[in-house]
Amino acid sequence: MTEAEITAVHEAGHVTANLLLGLRFDKVTLTPPQVWFGRHVHKGRHLALRRAVCHLAGPAAVMMVTGNGDGVATSDWQHAREVLADMANAPPIASVHAAAMRLLAQHRCVLTGVAAQLLARGDLSYVAVLGIARKT
Ligand SMILES: [Zn+2]
Repeated sequence: MTEAEITAVHEAGHVTANLLLGLRFDKVTLTPPQVWFGRHVHKGRHLALRRAVCHLAGPAAVMMVTGNGDGVATSDWQHAREVLADMANAPPIASVHAAAMRLLAQHRCVLTGVAAQLLARGDLSYVAVLGIARKT
């Protein structure tokens, strides 16, 4: 896989998880900063868990598709650690990563569809990602 293909899979992992878990985003691009969030206030334990899953869904997607970790995912792991550090009785980060892998494995068609369209177009809006998910 090319670097651009791996980046597309990684970002598709983030936004696919966001979409499936009901977290809104504005758009996703192949160039940094890759996932653009509107101004939202996220509160509560379940929301924190979903956010941690979404952070790890980028590296999880690359792991699922290539069988390897990726080099750009360090900040994702850091963000997930920060979210979990703020939670009482937070689950281990490995189980959050496993949850991200399961979620994407169950919706692999959406993940690969989003990655392919992101690679072709360079960016996708929330509505475009939603459209891809509805067609697959
Ligand atoms: Zn990422």
